[in-house]
Amino acid sequence: MLNFYPGPSKVYPEVRTYLTDAYDEGIIGAPHRGEQFVQVSRAVVNSLKRKINIPQDYHILFASSATECWEILIQSLTRHKSYHIYNGSFGEKWCEQAKKLRPNSEGMKFDMNEHMPVDDLQISSDTELICFTQNETSNGTQVSATTILNLQNKYRDTLIAVDATSSMAGLNLKFIKADIWFASVQKCFGLPSGLAVLICSPRAIFRAKQLNERSHYNSLVPMYEKMLNYQTTHTPNVLDIYLMKRMLEDRPFIKQLDIDLTDRANDLYEFFSQFTEFKLLVENEEVRSKTVLTLQGSERLVDDIKKRALLYNIRLGNGYGPWLRNTFRIANFPAIGNDEYEELKRFFLHYYA
Ligand SMILES: *Cc1c(COP(=O)(O)O)cnc(C)c1O
Repeated sequence: MLNFYPGPSKVYPEVRTYLTDAYDEGIIGAPHRGEQFVQVSRAVVNSLKRKINIPQDYHILFASSATECWEILIQSLTRHKSYHIYNGSFGEKWCEQAKKLRPNSEGMKFDMNEHMPVDDLQISSDTELICFTQNETSNGTQVSATTILNLQNKYRDTLIAVDATSSMAGLNLKFIKADIWFASVQKCFGLPSGLAVLICSPRAIFRAKQLNERSHYNSLVPMYEKMLNYQTTHTPNVLDIYLMKRMLEDRPFIKQLDIDLTDRANDLYEFFSQFTEFKLLVENEEVRSKTVLTLQGSERLVDDIKKRALLYNIRLGNGYGPWLRNTFRIANFPAIGNDEYEELKRFFLHYYA
C-alpha cells in the first residue's frame, strides 16, 4: 500500500527493524526512571538539536500530541489571553481551545491565498502569547521564514508559539525566530502517533517559571524540571522515544532533507497543475505548503479519485474541515520514497490526463 495520507502518515520503513531492536534491547519494558531510559532520552535530545538545528540553549520536552501542546501552552504561559492568527482548521481549533480556557483570547482569520498579514495585526500589549500554525495541514498553506521574522520584529516582547506539526523534521525551520515550537511525530517525523516534541526558548521557560502554573500533570514548569534529568512527569511513550532516537541517528541533516523535499514539492506542484478536472486549492504559489498538497475538484470526482486510488493500493488524504469533500491531500513527507511519487504520477496520468 502506498500511503500519502498527511497524518497519521507512512512511517519510515526502517521502523520495522527498530521495533524488533526495541524488543530485543528490552527498552519497551524498562522503567522510565531508570538509567536505560534516561540514556535514550538524552540521546534523542542531543540528536534533535544536531539533526534538525534546534539552538543549544532551547529546551526539549515530550508531550503526547500537538493537541495537548495547544492546551499546555495556554495553561502555563497565559493568565489572561492569547492571540491566534490562522487560515485553516488546525489554527482555528487551537484558538477555540484557548477561548475555552481563557475567554479573553482573540483570533484573526486571514485568507489562505494571502501571506499572514503581519503589518495589519493590532495585538494589544496585554496579550501574553501569539500563536500560529507554520504549516496548515488542513488546506496546504505555509508561513514563510520571512513572515515569521517580521512578526518577531514587530512583537519583540511577546512570546510567539508555533504549531509546526506537519513540517518539523522535514523542513529547516528557523527555531531562533520564535519561542515555542511543537509537533506530533506521526507526520514529518515518519513515526507512529502518540508522542509530541515541544521546544521552548530560555525566555519561554523564564516566563513559565514566573507564572509557576502547576495545576496539571503536564504543566510547563514540572515538565521542564523533570526534563533536567531527561525524564517526564508521567510514564511517556518510551517506544516512540526509542524509535525517534534510531530514526534521527539514521537520517541526514535537516538542511539536506529540506532541499530534497523542496525539490520534490516543486516537481509535484508542476505535475498537478496540468490537470483540468481538478486544480490546486491554493492559487498563490508563494504560500503553498512544501509538505502537504491540496487538490480541489467536484465532490463526485474527488470521491472517484480516492476510491479508484484505493483499488490500486494508493491511499490519498481526505479533505479536512470545510474542504472535507471537495479536496484530497497528498503528503510530501521524507519517509515516502521518490519511486512512490513516480507511481502516483503514473496513476494520475493514466486515469485523469
Ligand atoms: C495533525 C495536526 C495536529 C494534531 O495532532 P495530534 O497529534 O492529533 O494532536 C495539530 N496541528 C497540526 C498543524 C496538525 O497537522
